[in-house]
Amino acid sequence: MPDPSPATDGAGAASELVIDLDAIKRNYLALKQRLGGAECGAAVKADAYGTGADKTAPALFEAGCRTFFVATVDEGIALRKTLPPGKTLPRARIAVLNGLLPGTEEVFPEFNLIPVINDLEQAARIRQMCVEADRAMPAMLHIDTGMNRLGLSPADMDWVAGEPDVLAGPDWLYALSHLASADEPERSENPAQLALFREQCRRLQRPMKMSLANSAGIFLGPDYHFDLARPGFALYGGRVEDGKPSPMEPVVRLRARILQVRAVRAGDPVGYGGTFKAEGDSRIATVAAGYADGYLRSLSNSGGAYIGNQRLPVVGRVSMDMLAVDVSKVDRTEVYPGGYVDLLGPQYTVNDAADAAGTIGYEILTGLGHRYTRRYIDVGSGDS
Ligand SMILES: *Cc1c(COP(=O)(O)O)cnc(C)c1O
Repeated sequence: MPDPSPATDGAGAASELVIDLDAIKRNYLALKQRLGGAECGAAVKADAYGTGADKTAPALFEAGCRTFFVATVDEGIALRKTLPPGKTLPRARIAVLNGLLPGTEEVFPEFNLIPVINDLEQAARIRQMCVEADRAMPAMLHIDTGMNRLGLSPADMDWVAGEPDVLAGPDWLYALSHLASADEPERSENPAQLALFREQCRRLQRPMKMSLANSAGIFLGPDYHFDLARPGFALYGGRVEDGKPSPMEPVVRLRARILQVRAVRAGDPVGYGGTFKAEGDSRIATVAAGYADGYLRSLSNSGGAYIGNQRLPVVGRVSMDMLAVDVSKVDRTEVYPGGYVDLLGPQYTVNDAADAAGTIGYEILTGLGHRYTRRYIDVGSGDS
């Protein structure tokens, strides 16, 4: 990851979150290549997993992505305003995963959003909307094959099989389903969901394009690719198999500002509760990132950091606005107030931090705070 361009906002004050849009684009193209002929969409919900959908989604569009998935209607509206306008063909499709909730009927056509139909009530609602608009409105059909989260249940599908007209009216762009255990390739649930998805789509008695794979699903092989994949995490550098290194490029670098460097003597405690005691005379850097910035408190005494190629430990408890890093191993000239320590980056990725924190990289990414100065690397179209 190249060094970022100089900050244009809040320069100097804060820690920096550097997001490499070029890496996101390369990750998109790598997934697209792996997919062969299938279309590669992108999940950009939760502000593009914390990376900033207003920057990330246009970058993905530039890389060729035309089908975007958000969770909520509000995310969809914001994204519609961000993406290139409708004159650019083919126009970007925005699908709303949380579905067609009562009271949102008018928003979908107004902002050209596509509802993902998650139950029979929503199916009736989109059907009614088509009657009223006197046109086939676009929609996607979510079929549950084992998540038990959203989507038509097996019982719903039995009913639909007997009453195929309940799906008459909309322009069904895709039938989709979601894998529960794709990041564990050996699990028998994966082929079971695959088989059930195929079976349920056959029973629809109306041909629809199909979409099953999230990031990890793409790596389960071509059987899982169908017509459209919906990766999210892998685009942002996430790994696709539990416990294995990520095949994707890291995207996020978190450079925490050093506020102070302290000499600490052997036996001295650091931070709340004195949970860390220096083994020998040490130098401790207090840096500007804490749990209010999404740096998880569970990384207390377990997180890693880097200055140059030197791995350094996070010591003591993470506090709200600050944490401590033992910088004894780094030359004094490289550690000074105003300097930086990398808390996330190519050497210590969101996946590494997740392991140390006992969580998943998704949570690290989506929790990234808003006090950081954000910088975007976008060499392709000039730094922004
Ligand atoms: C979030 C989501 C995705 C993307 O999943 P990743 O694991 O981030 O690739 C795909 N499909 C659905 C239905 C989702 O909710």
